[in-house]
Amino acid sequence: MSGFRRFFYNRLAVIGLGLLIAIAAVSLLAPILPIAHPNITDLTMRIMPPGTEGHVLGTDQLGRDILSRLIWGTRISLAVGLSATAIAAIIGSLIGIVSAFYGGVIDNTLMRGIDMLMAFPYILLALAIVAVLGPGLFNALIAISIVNIPFFARNVRGATVSLVRLEYIDAARLSGKNNVKIVFGELLPNVMPVIVITISTTVGWMILETAGLSFLGLGAQPPTADLGSMLGDGRGVILTAPHVATLPGLVILVLVIGINLVGDGLRDVLDPYLRAGALVSPRPATEVDAKLLARKRAEKLETDGDASHISDLPLSVRNLRTWFWQRDAQIHAADDVSFDLPKGRALGIMGESGSGKSVTALSVLGLVPTPPGRIMDGCVTYYGEELVGAPLERLRFYRGNRIAYIFQNPMTSLNPLFSVGEQIAEAVRRHQPVTSEEAWARAGELMDMVQIPDARRRINDYPHQLSGGMRQRIGIAIALANDPDVIIADEPTTALDVTIQAQILRLLENLRERYGVSLVFISHDFGVVSAVCERIVVMYAGEIVESGSVEEIYGRPLHPYTRRLMACVPRVGSRGAEMDAIPGLPPALDRLPAGCRFAERCDMAIEACTSAPIPLEEHANESPVGAREVRCIRAKEMTV
Ligand code: SF4
Repeated sequence: MSGFRRFFYNRLAVIGLGLLIAIAAVSLLAPILPIAHPNITDLTMRIMPPGTEGHVLGTDQLGRDILSRLIWGTRISLAVGLSATAIAAIIGSLIGIVSAFYGGVIDNTLMRGIDMLMAFPYILLALAIVAVLGPGLFNALIAISIVNIPFFARNVRGATVSLVRLEYIDAARLSGKNNVKIVFGELLPNVMPVIVITISTTVGWMILETAGLSFLGLGAQPPTADLGSMLGDGRGVILTAPHVATLPGLVILVLVIGINLVGDGLRDVLDPYLRAGALVSPRPATEVDAKLLARKRAEKLETDGDASHISDLPLSVRNLRTWFWQRDAQIHAADDVSFDLPKGRALGIMGESGSGKSVTALSVLGLVPTPPGRIMDGCVTYYGEELVGAPLERLRFYRGNRIAYIFQNPMTSLNPLFSVGEQIAEAVRRHQPVTSEEAWARAGELMDMVQIPDARRRINDYPHQLSGGMRQRIGIAIALANDPDVIIADEPTTALDVTIQAQILRLLENLRERYGVSLVFISHDFGVVSAVCERIVVMYAGEIVESGSVEEIYGRPLHPYTRRLMACVPRVGSRGAEMDAIPGLPPALDRLPAGCRFAERCDMAIEACTSAPIPLEEHANESPVGAREVRCIRAKEMTV
């Protein structure tokens, strides 16, 4: 979604923008509006109440028209506030970028200067500057600009420091760009969102600070009206004519609220973390669609289909649909996914990035973040017990206990602040009634079990002290902590180099054989999946397109996507052979075609492929590890 549309989806920001546009338009049109001159006094009309003929909002102590003074005063307050913001933003941002870019003495000198400014309460500093320069709007503008420079300098320096060591800055240097070009061409555009966010959050204060100085008689001087000086003038008659002070106060309030609402909206659009939903905490379990939940409750959480069949299975997934609900789109991340995992067996889920593998796996334990995820249909059972729509306490019992999860990147899935021993012991304590000593002893055993060399010594190491392969072994040790029946390994070897990958695969295979654990192994690598699994499910654009035993799928893939996917795998000894890449891209999951989702990229597509959804159909097979299913109307031609 474009930033523009995202901003306009934020109702509060739109209200703020509406307020600002209305106020700015009226104050800009002041010279042509049919209103009295703001400084004309009429002592016969002193302190008239609102609604007096010729004075809609009444008059002040000198008989001046309050409406006219408000409009002209708002114009001045806005001009001073915005000018001060622009000056502070330009100078402060330059100081921040230069300081971070050059570092060393320049950074120290500039930042100590900024620290000195920040050592004073900013309003006292502004008062001191105006006291030295003398009262007046221009001097108030200078004072407000100076006291706000540190906010920009600090924020922009912080953002720039994290950028100056990135590779694209090195690349700019290598391309021969000089420092000025790097600062203005590379760094400035990247810190611009930070500058805009800082502007949006400080401009409201600056208008308030300007009004504050005028209120104290240090800003706008009589007879010039600005909102602060009008508020100050009304103070003397607050009891007899409250409207004189209240009306400028209200305009300041509305103006600052409008600016802050727009500022918040802009920040949400520009800040990449907020844009990615950083402030939206996911719920403890994936939301289940209300209709599905009601249906399941009505069925008393009975499973669809033959319950006696699935009650023997540690994991069964039936017709699972998990979608992401965004404001203007429904993303069909996993659609109608079904598979069974018998005890002690390994099932591989394969497909390109975005095919729905991880969403399917995360849906098993309700770990797909909501918002935006929601389970729309289907059931997931553990030995016949329904997990979709199960109470949170029940899901927590299964998580890490009966069904464990190994994440792709152990560097981000392990907590950097706790030793690896503590993290394994915590996983044990969470589900077993053991003492701390027993949990630590079990942690040591598990580290031995996953072949961490010198485990007893390394138990107090922190994740950053271990290599990538060892961290992944710790992830596996945590998964094994409570002797689970099912382990879901989500691309556990993707972040590792080939030799470590082979060790981890061997370890998983040994553990599975030794402890009879059932394994769901997610990967995009055919070689890796075939080394570990007996059965493969191939996913494309959220759907299963083919499933069968490893031998069947390797020996004779029936879906054109599987065939093309296998043709992409480089083979040893095929040096110089052209890689057979799949042309095109998968369809957008919020705008799926009516027919086959692979049709656009399929070299066998015919007209019938695009007219209606293609069902997943069973094909003859002799494998003991389950049915052979293919979602392709031309699959039979491939069997010949
Ligand atoms: S249904 Fe048609 S378009 Fe889809 S994979 Fe089969 S042949 Fe290709």
